Amino acid sequence: MTDVYFERTKEILERKDIDKRVKMEIRTKSVPGDAPGVFTGLDEVLDLLKGTDTSVWSLPEGSLFAPYDPVMTIEGYYREFSTLETPLLGFLCQASGIATKARVVKDAAAGKPVFHFGSRRMHPAISPMIGRSAYIGGCDGVAVSKTAKMLGTDPVGTIPHALILLLEDSTTATGMFEEIFGGSVDTVALVDTFGDEKFEALENADLIEGLNAVRLDTPSSRRGDMLQIAKEVRWELDLHGFADVKIFISGGLDEESIPSLNEVADAYGVGTSISNSPVVDYSLDIVEIDGEPTAKRGKCSGAKQLFVCDSCGERRIASWEVEEVSCPRCEKSMDKKLVKVIEEGEVIAADREPKEIRDYSLNQTLTTPKTT
Ligand SMILES: [Zn+2]
Repeated sequence: MTDVYFERTKEILERKDIDKRVKMEIRTKSVPGDAPGVFTGLDEVLDLLKGTDTSVWSLPEGSLFAPYDPVMTIEGYYREFSTLETPLLGFLCQASGIATKARVVKDAAAGKPVFHFGSRRMHPAISPMIGRSAYIGGCDGVAVSKTAKMLGTDPVGTIPHALILLLEDSTTATGMFEEIFGGSVDTVALVDTFGDEKFEALENADLIEGLNAVRLDTPSSRRGDMLQIAKEVRWELDLHGFADVKIFISGGLDEESIPSLNEVADAYGVGTSISNSPVVDYSLDIVEIDGEPTAKRGKCSGAKQLFVCDSCGERRIASWEVEEVSCPRCEKSMDKKLVKVIEEGEVIAADREPKEIRDYSLNQTLTTPKTT
């Protein structure tokens, strides 16, 4: 999976016996949606570069980044690893794009749970990567069992429209679900298959004792006003003594449509807007050759370090040689964020569980970076 120009470059360098040691830097000039970027995909980069004659410094996965932040620096003999650029960027660009979008959607939900339902729109081979990135970015769970197992979470999901069509009735489907899975999985009734959401919600609440929530998945083809439908369902449930039955909304949601629903929704299922999110356009560029700073036009030469204040989030990009930068606000020493993850081909990165990476990601804020 390599662009042929890297293979041809390698052949030229080998046949002409040119073997130069370089430092290369990964960064992006922009983040989709002008959002804080969420750096993800390092797990697969470590697998890719393991055993090569390189040393790698990287932001920890889940780190927030801004345009022009160095997110990774690779040192080694160019012709030894140049043919890995295509897959290396591919791992980072797509995973970080999904995590970045998940963070935007999670922020739009103002603290309410967001579950990733978008695997069905994507090639199954990359489904675990999509789910992992969505989870690290902020999603609270995923629908695919294999991905959930990989993440150490419980998969989320109850009843598709198909089961209700087969059983010819929403409450029959919910009842069977409750009978078979009740107690171990929250029972959520899907209430828009045949009848009006309000009446199907009340019927389910009446008949299913352990009902946790109703799910509204009304497609836009019915031209429904989702906010008004959800408010009406909430009103009727409350009026009939079912205030503890929650409202779960899914179906074509994104960061634009979610905020107006927050006053009534308790949780969201979000699909394509996360799984099909735009990629982060990282590039990998030479910034040093045989110890001498160099770079193509439009790019600052020399390796760079990203310093971040762990108290206030203040950021500075500084030359690799700079050992210490003080926070202009707190006057304390800022942390070097690019840390060594591969030493001469050996992975030395800390082994972190997805949940730990997600918590780390969600606990950060981003301030505008400045170059010193
Ligand atoms: Zn500070």
